[in-house]
Formats: sequence, structure tokens, C-alpha cells
Amino acid sequence: MWQHLLDLLSPSVCPGCEARREAGQALLCSRCRDGIRPCWEQAGVLTAVAYEATGARLIRRFKFDARGDALSVLVEALAQRLEQLEFDAVVPIPRHPDRIRSHGSDPAFQLARRLSRRIGRPIWEPLCRIGPGRPQTGLSQPERRKNVDLGFQLSTSESLRAPGDLLLVDDVTTTGATLASAKQLLLDFTGARSVVCAALAATPGGRTAVAAPLAAAAERSSEGRLPLPSRPIAAL
Ligand SMILES: [Zn+2]
Repeated sequence: MWQHLLDLLSPSVCPGCEARREAGQALLCSRCRDGIRPCWEQAGVLTAVAYEATGARLIRRFKFDARGDALSVLVEALAQRLEQLEFDAVVPIPRHPDRIRSHGSDPAFQLARRLSRRIGRPIWEPLCRIGPGRPQTGLSQPERRKNVDLGFQLSTSESLRAPGDLLLVDDVTTTGATLASAKQLLLDFTGARSVVCAALAATPGGRTAVAAPLAAAAERSSEGRLPLPSRPIAAL
């Protein structure tokens, strides 16, 4: 039923390459599915895809073209990545209102809302941004770290008692510094039991862990370190 509704609501083209698709077919064409490079973890952040090839195109179409079908593919990939974990709430990395006005949308909140529906857990928004923060695009890694030093503060309009185990999400991660800074604030001041950081995609520049083919990921999973999705992302 959901696929049928998506067919009605989303463009009848592949969100990766704009190739025409027929109703009932998977959102991504086979060529784009083959072009997804999984990335399971980077700098302590659980991720779904590498910001390369099809993954990068999907992220750009979601963030800059407001393509809900691209977001659907990415959220499904991330949800599969997280499905062996339990959370009580989804916390989006906040953008400063100036950034939201200039960009015209709030990608991290859109991601959190879609993921919240997918995993059946509520959104909780205890954080707000202290400074405007420049966009990370085009900055070097030292510049990115300095940029996130502007940091976060706790919201004054939200209850600050954490509901338990939190899933903290952002759209794209490179160094993991933004998510790490927000995670520490949540752990220090909200009584959160645990905070897992996740992002749709990881940019290659900050890679400290793995852009793993499925076989290599399965090997690590068998060592008990990383849970695997129940089905490969290529099945999307
Ligand atoms: Zn395609």
C-alpha cells in the first residue's frame, strides 16, 4: 500500500538519475542502486551511504531540490542500518533560524520527521543553535571544526527531561564534530540514558572508519561490533 501511495505522490522518475519509472517499480533504478556505496560508520556516527555517486546525488536532490522521493530512499537505508537498535525519541541537529530562512528549509528536521514516522518514535527538540553557523559546504576540516564551536544550547521552551535512549540525527557528517558536540550536551544536561549519532551520508573527507562493501560489513558484524541491516541497501 505504501509503495502505491508513493507512486501517487512522488515523481514517476528515479530520484537518482531522473530515468522514467513505472508504477510499482522500486524508487531507484537498478543502475542507481548499483551506484550506492554503503558507509556504515564514520567518526562515531552511524550512516547509511557514502556521499559519493548515487548517494551524493540523492542528498543534493533532497537538500537543494526538496525531493521527497530522494529523502524516502535515504531514510529507508538509514532505518535499515538502525533497525537492531531501540530508541525512545529522535532528536534533530538544530539549524539557526537564519540558516533555515536563507536555505528555505531545515533538512535535519525533515529527516528527523520522516525517520520518526518510519521507526515509530516521537521527535524531541531540546536543542537550539547559539550562533548562526556558516554552511559547512566548501570549508576545510579545521574551518568546519571552528564553525561548529559556535555550538548549541538547551531550549527554554521544551521539557529537558530526556525520554531515555536518544537517536541524534543530521543529514550529512564529515568529522562528526557537530553531532559529538550536541551529544555531549544531551548526556551532560538532560539525563539521557544513551545517545546514538546517525546521519544519512558521510563525506569521504572525514572518513576514519569504513566505506564498506556488504561482505566486509558482514565480517565486522559477526564480530559483534556493528549491526547489519536485515536486507542490503541494494534492495531498496
Ligand atoms: Zn536511476
